[in-house]
Amino acid sequence: MLTALLGATATVLAACGGSSAATVVEAPGATASSVSPPAASSGARPSVIVTYPVLGAVVKDVVGDTADVRVLMPGGADPHEWTPSAKDVQAILAADLVVDNGLMLEGRIQDPLAQAKAKGVTVFTVGDHITVRKVKSGEGAEPEDPDQAPGADDPHLWTDPLTMKQWVTPFAATLKGKGVDVTARAARVEADLADLDSRVRETLAAVPAGRRKLVTGHESMGYFAERYGFQLIGAVIPTVTSQSEASARELADLTKKIKAAGIPAIFAEIGTPKATTDAVARDSGATVVELSAHLLPADGSYRTFMLAIATTVTGALK
Ligand SMILES: [Zn+2]
Repeated sequence: MLTALLGATATVLAACGGSSAATVVEAPGATASSVSPPAASSGARPSVIVTYPVLGAVVKDVVGDTADVRVLMPGGADPHEWTPSAKDVQAILAADLVVDNGLMLEGRIQDPLAQAKAKGVTVFTVGDHITVRKVKSGEGAEPEDPDQAPGADDPHLWTDPLTMKQWVTPFAATLKGKGVDVTARAARVEADLADLDSRVRETLAAVPAGRRKLVTGHESMGYFAERYGFQLIGAVIPTVTSQSEASARELADLTKKIKAAGIPAIFAEIGTPKATTDAVARDSGATVVELSAHLLPADGSYRTFMLAIATTVTGALK
């Protein structure tokens, strides 16, 4: 049954795709008459540095052309594995405002952030402004690892539009402290996120309650699951980061659970070891479906990102 797995430990390799160059992005919705000047060329607008592209999409929606927004992680990077370059650290130290996810998503950014704060840079940590989901026992977390034990913080707050909505107003207030008033834009973004939640619900309506069961690459869909009534059955990498290993026994247990629950699909994502996922799929009879739970789509839109997740989940489970 699981002979393919027994010899091979499911070691996760860093998914360091893309270039190490930071991405400079213009504000979405900018019209031909309001083209942003190149970043760092203007002393008038505050510079905002965002660590993670999915957060950057919503930051840009809120900020518009009132500030220069730069996202550090390249598209395709695994946020759990990302290490800021020396240039990234310089950018953090030179910014007016830094936006990070927190909750140990960007585990290797704590020292630069502490330096930036000591220098007087304002740091807005999104995880400080939302209802944090805690890892629950039975989710397959590794109890011996304090970052994964039941009760640890789940960093994947972006998989639920209503959780994303929670930090918009406090973020706008922080911008106001930098001399930028985005009150009207923030209200529009909040309305958009509430509408997006409705659209996601409509899409997921095709999945019967009894089939709302998720098996993912790692435990990345907790906020989504709690918002939309899905049960987390297990993960190929049984933690809330992609940096871990699964034992043969854990994989055999997962295979058993998938069979027992009659789950038709395993959602593979960034950092999920393909050979392991394929072996679990083969032994359980489930199909492997790619899920972009960490990567912003080409159009840079959070709405597109969430609707794609809803569509993928619906298509695989309905
Ligand atoms: Zn993740």
